[in-house]
Amino acid sequence: MYYIRLDDACEKRDVAKWNRIEALLDKYSVKPIVGIIPNCKDTDMDKYPVDNEFWSRAVLWQEKGWHIALHGFEHLFCSNDGGLNPVNTYSEFAGVQLEQQRKKIRGGVRILEKHGIVPKIFFAPAHTYDANTLLALKEESNIRIVSDTIAYDSYRFGEFTFIPQQSGRVRKLPFRTVTFCYHPNLMSEQDYVVLENFLRQNNSKFVNGLVGESKRKFSLFDRVLKYLYFVRR
Ligand SMILES: [Zn+2]
Repeated sequence: MYYIRLDDACEKRDVAKWNRIEALLDKYSVKPIVGIIPNCKDTDMDKYPVDNEFWSRAVLWQEKGWHIALHGFEHLFCSNDGGLNPVNTYSEFAGVQLEQQRKKIRGGVRILEKHGIVPKIFFAPAHTYDANTLLALKEESNIRIVSDTIAYDSYRFGEFTFIPQQSGRVRKLPFRTVTFCYHPNLMSEQDYVVLENFLRQNNSKFVNGLVGESKRKFSLFDRVLKYLYFVRR
C-alpha cells in the first residue's frame, strides 16, 4: 500500500509546482497526505511570493478528501535532537520541553481551525519528534495519527497510529506500507515524469480512502527493518 505525502504547504510556496502535482494526483485519483505549516517563519520559503489564496486552496484540498496534516508550527529548528525517528539531528520538537511543545501544537491547531481546517495527522519538520510531542498532541489536539516512522506497516502505539514514511521518491521497497514524501517546491521536471510513470503502473496500490487507525503492534520484524534502515544511512 502506498501513500504520497506533500510537505511544506504554506502561504509561501511555488504555486506552479504545487498546482502541477495537484493536477497529476487528480488525474490518477490519488489523495495525498498534505502537511501544512501553520505559521511559517522558515526563511528558506522567503524566495516564494505570498499566495493570498493559500487558505482557501487548503480548504478545497480538505473538501476533496486530501488528508490534512499539521506540519509543525513555525518550521524553525531549535534543537539538535533526533528523538524517536532520528532521520535528522535537528528539530522543532524533539528535545524541546513539553510545555513549549504543547504551545506549538495548540497554536498550530488554532491557526488551521481558524481557517476551517481540521488536521487529522501530524508530522514534524525534519521528521523529528519525541515522546513529549505525542503527549503534547494528546493534550492539545484530537490528532492520533503520526506520519513518520520506519516500519513494515502502520502500527498502533498507545493511543497513536503510526504510518511509516521511508522514501523521498517513488520506488519498490520491501515494506507493506510505504509513504513517498515529496517537497513540491523542490521538484524537478524529472521528478514529475518518474512519479507519473509510477502512478500509472501502480495506481491500484495507492490509498485513496480514509487514513484509518491501525491495531497492529510494532513487531520484532519492524525493529529489525528500522535498525537496518538507520545503519545504512
Ligand atoms: Zn517541512
